[in-house]
Amino acid sequence: MIIDCHMHTPLCGHASGSPTEYVQWAARKGLQLVTFTCHIPMDMGGFGNYGIRMKEKHLPKYFKIVEQARTVGERLGVEVLCGIEAEIFPDEQVMARMDQTLAAHDFDFILGSLHHFTSSYGNRLRTADARTDFEKVETYFEDLATGARTGRYHSISHPDVIRIYGTVDHFDPAEHEKSIRRFLQSVIEADICMEVNTSGFIKECAQMHPDPLILDWASEMGVNLTIGSDSHNPQSVGQFYEIVLPLLKEKDFTQLHYHRAGKRVAVPIEG
Ligand SMILES: [Zn+2]
Ligand SMILES: [Zn+2]
Repeated sequence: MIIDCHMHTPLCGHASGSPTEYVQWAARKGLQLVTFTCHIPMDMGGFGNYGIRMKEKHLPKYFKIVEQARTVGERLGVEVLCGIEAEIFPDEQVMARMDQTLAAHDFDFILGSLHHFTSSYGNRLRTADARTDFEKVETYFEDLATGARTGRYHSISHPDVIRIYGTVDHFDPAEHEKSIRRFLQSVIEADICMEVNTSGFIKECAQMHPDPLILDWASEMGVNLTIGSDSHNPQSVGQFYEIVLPLLKEKDFTQLHYHRAGKRVAVPIEG
């Protein structure tokens, strides 16, 4: 069974194509299950507005277009689930507001992402006095570990995304082994997953998230994985699986996971 549990809709303002088209491409590429995870509304400022994420008032439309895609998926043999890409941010007051959105809706799957390039996280790094690249990456993984421990998320998305978008110039996971392993341990203790995100291949790092070295540690420690293309257009669904799935098997992973109504389901890795 081939699955893809991270994709967007035009409601975020930086993706194209209707959810139905994503599902048609999924069918064409031989996938059997997809989960939509558009960016959660954060109507409190500091997390980007239009162009980054939908507004709270757009959520009914989100559910409607995913539902339409679900109906099409039924005909095509692709199960369609409805999740959300939530934020990780080290301020429980901000998180409490986001939790209201999470509590008000039944999402199949909640991804946790720390978008380090937001103005809020820029402030966070300044407050933490993280000045060098090394300190910034350490702070990022500490915050990611804290986010994992909250149990708010089913999976932690693109775990080393700090390496792109200019917050740091230099990223070498080997230099951060201790803090990254602490993050992986938090994922295990919270009994959640880490995402393998294949969109990194089209970005400046030209590498999946997380880095293969982090996957070695995750494999050794027994971390459960979800997988997602982070598609912002229909053609990207399942992107680079021909590289990533064999690599995961090589690293002794045997299963991937998806979530339906918040329940984790394991599937063997194909490919
Ligand atoms: Zn996006
Ligand atoms: Zn995403």
